[in-house]
Amino acid sequence: MITIALSKGRIFEETTPLLAAAGIAALEDPESSRKLILPTNRADVRLIIVRASDVPTYVQYGAADLGIAGKDVLYEHGGEGLYQPLDLQIARCKMMVAVREDFDYFGSIRQGARLKVVTKYVKFAREHFADKGMHVDLIKLYGSMELGPLVGLADAIVDLVSTGNTLRANHLKAVEEIADISSRLIVNQASLKLNRSALQPIIEAFSSVVAARNSANN
Ligand code: AMP
Repeated sequence: MITIALSKGRIFEETTPLLAAAGIAALEDPESSRKLILPTNRADVRLIIVRASDVPTYVQYGAADLGIAGKDVLYEHGGEGLYQPLDLQIARCKMMVAVREDFDYFGSIRQGARLKVVTKYVKFAREHFADKGMHVDLIKLYGSMELGPLVGLADAIVDLVSTGNTLRANHLKAVEEIADISSRLIVNQASLKLNRSALQPIIEAFSSVVAARNSANN
């Protein structure tokens, strides 16, 4: 049995065409089903639906053979024991620093202010500010980082930005870009050795979709 770990929402939606290229289709929609293990049209393939930040853990320990996880999640997890053969270029967004529209971020930095920053992405944030030689107080949150500067919890946020609509709706502005983010295929290394004949065609099918999209875009 091949087990593929995915998260609901954007990653699941954008993975569906990749799975189709490998001849795999979920038999139920995770948005409407409460099942955590979804059967597919192939008796030898199942999908497990887990939190995005848990996908690397399932693959690392071999509870899933394959998984799809954002670079944000992989970076925070550390990626130990994971083979990352392919950037799928899905669920693209940017890791950014954002502040209230009326906050003078660069002026505060020039004055040497010690900023408070809320984020779920502590590793990204710590390294970004360390690279800039800035001392900041990092406050970990698990969601809705945008609220932090609005209620005085923090001066800035480090979060993913896709369309920018969430920032705009909350009167925030992006001030620095930290990284381009997209999702990668991750593979359990032991599974790949033991079950290469079953996993390799799936990896190759994903890879040919990515290559075809790249050549269509160039
Ligand atoms: P947007 O309003 O389109 O800029 O999206 C911003 C919100 O969606 C923020 O709360 C982000 O944390 C979240 N977000 C955007 N892109 C992603 C992604 N690729 N993966 C996970 N969360 C995302």
